[in-house]
Amino acid sequence: MNLMPELPEVETIRRVLERKIAGRTIQCASLRVPKLAASRLTRDLRPQAASLLRRLRGRKILGLRRRAKYLILDLDAGRLVVHLGMTGQLFARVPGEKPCCDLPALPDKHTHLILELSGRVRVYYRDIRKFGRLRFLKPGEEEAFFRHLGLEPFSRGFTPWTLDAGLHGKKASVKALLLNQHVVAGLGNIYVDEVLFRSRIAPQTPGGRLTSERIRRLHAAIREVLREAIRFRGTTLSDYFDPESRRGAFQFRLKVYGREGEPCPVCGRPIIKNVVAQRGTHWCRHCQR
Ligand SMILES: [Zn+2]
Repeated sequence: MNLMPELPEVETIRRVLERKIAGRTIQCASLRVPKLAASRLTRDLRPQAASLLRRLRGRKILGLRRRAKYLILDLDAGRLVVHLGMTGQLFARVPGEKPCCDLPALPDKHTHLILELSGRVRVYYRDIRKFGRLRFLKPGEEEAFFRHLGLEPFSRGFTPWTLDAGLHGKKASVKALLLNQHVVAGLGNIYVDEVLFRSRIAPQTPGGRLTSERIRRLHAAIREVLREAIRFRGTTLSDYFDPESRRGAFQFRLKVYGREGEPCPVCGRPIIKNVVAQRGTHWCRHCQR
């Protein structure tokens, strides 16, 4: 299953991790898989990894932010940007605090980055498929790094009008346009399917064909679904755990995603699954037009 952490999972990680690591100093940093730190392809990736680790050691973590599906650790000099790729996980272990479950036992062979912080707190980055990315950004580099991303769904700038402008004239399906991050950032396959169901829009509808009434519904659904998913601490279908090894609970509230053949919660007809924008897409042919 090609699932990656989406906005609600990354936001949940940010909230839990910030409580445990903000204000602490990175005393030691080690990275086992250099390619996670590579920003360009070179024959030997180790110098890039060494440079990242050198910049992290001794830095104080001031706070954590999120941009779309990226987690940003603000340091007293520069920042560390983490993208979890497909299977990335961040765990924090604080002396005297018991994680919610003992799995995985840390560090294991999939634990690639270890940060030892003041107060004997440890942060583990674990990633079975190793598609994650770790980047150190100097002050002033952030804008260019995130240039490809559209609006943040909870920002003041994200309105039915800006959504309309982003979709205007587009022939691509609304599903593809929501997945590609250029119009609005943070949604992936699970939440796009849920959002389109809630706004009663068929996933293959060309973005430029949506009426302003449907765009208003779509805008509201994006915020509602994401807000609810954050409240339930994300969706755990396979790899997602929060930094305390806790599962999310939004998987019990999904209305269409992963429910192929089950009755639609609105009309009772079976949920179908087909391929739209090269992704398995779950929807109700009767409710979504
Ligand atoms: Zn239906």
